Amino acid sequence: MRLRKCPKCSSYSLKHVCCGSATVSPHPAKYHPARAAYLRLAKKLEHKTD
Ligand SMILES: [Zn+2]
Repeated sequence: MRLRKCPKCSSYSLKHVCCGSATVSPHPAKYHPARAAYLRLAKKLEHKTD
């Protein structure tokens, strides 16, 4: 179960709708160092000339 947050009343809720609007995840973009490193490598290989 993931906790969500209401953008209108700023209260945390498990419901997807609060105050008549959709609640959002309070932690939307979690940074993954391993994935970031992989994406960097993928980009590097993409531009590799030899
Ligand atoms: Zn609300």
